[in-house]
Amino acid sequence: MRIIDLRRDTITKPDHIMKQDAFTAPLGDSVYGEDPDQVKLERISAEKIGKEEAIFVPSGTMGNLTALLSHTRRGDEIITENSAHIRMSETGGAAALAGLMLSPVRGHDGLPEKEAFLQAVRKDDIHYPRTSLLCLETSHYRYGGIITDPARFAELRKEAAEGNIKIHLDGARLFNSSIALGIDCREITRFADSVMVSLSKGLGAPVGSILAGSGEFIEKAKRFRKMLGGGMRQTGWLARCGIAALADENIRRLAEDHRNARTFARGLNKIAGYTVEEEKVHTNIVFAYYEFSEAVLLDIIAACKEHGVLCNQPRNGVWRFAFCREVTGEDVETALNAIRRETSTRG
Ligand SMILES: *Cc1c(COP(=O)(O)O)cnc(C)c1O
Repeated sequence: MRIIDLRRDTITKPDHIMKQDAFTAPLGDSVYGEDPDQVKLERISAEKIGKEEAIFVPSGTMGNLTALLSHTRRGDEIITENSAHIRMSETGGAAALAGLMLSPVRGHDGLPEKEAFLQAVRKDDIHYPRTSLLCLETSHYRYGGIITDPARFAELRKEAAEGNIKIHLDGARLFNSSIALGIDCREITRFADSVMVSLSKGLGAPVGSILAGSGEFIEKAKRFRKMLGGGMRQTGWLARCGIAALADENIRRLAEDHRNARTFARGLNKIAGYTVEEEKVHTNIVFAYYEFSEAVLLDIIAACKEHGVLCNQPRNGVWRFAFCREVTGEDVETALNAIRRETSTRG
């Protein structure tokens, strides 16, 4: 039975060509800068993301934490939008390991509201922690993969610069944003001092993320990467996959995931009992709301699993789906049929 996994976009596996190419990598000790493919991956990443330099890190969480450590001092305060991944889903690393206070602020479509941001910025006073960093996120995961017009980043950038506050962009799905906006990702990243990008989500690499920024920033980040245990050795196999992940045609392919997400959203919206705000499906994530009890939905989810359609359990009344290259257009129809059938016998 074919398994159709709509739970996450982290399920992507390297394709045959990526794998074959990876295993021919010459390999070297990357801690000493001697893995040729990691060196190449870091150079290509910096160029694509539009920053002076970049480093390869084992995960997005480590990339974000490395950025926080590099931008701040212990006891500083950083500002995030309420539901930012850095605040919600990174195990409190900012506090536990970087010694930071988090100041979450109200957001609109995933972006901190300007007024809320300005209110959260601390004045220079010996009683207060120093506000040193603003963290932004695009696409925004907890807003259903929504994207932000870079003009709104520009506005925050201006305000942050006045307060001498740096900006870190959690761009785990930066390329989903740039593809959906139809612009070069450098048009987005120019408003950030540092950027994290996941290679292991929609882009399909098995492992790894990129952290990019100025030469000075990356020099600090390299020390923290090592401190956190992110100094890997013969990384060439992974780096080769990362290089393939960043190929232009692979990045353009993300549009397919976005199309599948929209088709799915439209289809689910037509099934009685579900609502999707289709205008908010910007990228590869779909949030749906359901009109029956959670117990009924759990029952539907269990029945779909019997047909090989894997769905998330709902959280706070939201049923989330993610689309990636493991899911074809045909899979979308199969999944919709399964949900339709199992809902109609219960609803
Ligand atoms: C997945 C994700 C991360 C963390 O990446 P991992 O590689 O899973 O550690 C960070 N930010 C956002 C928005 C993400 O979706």
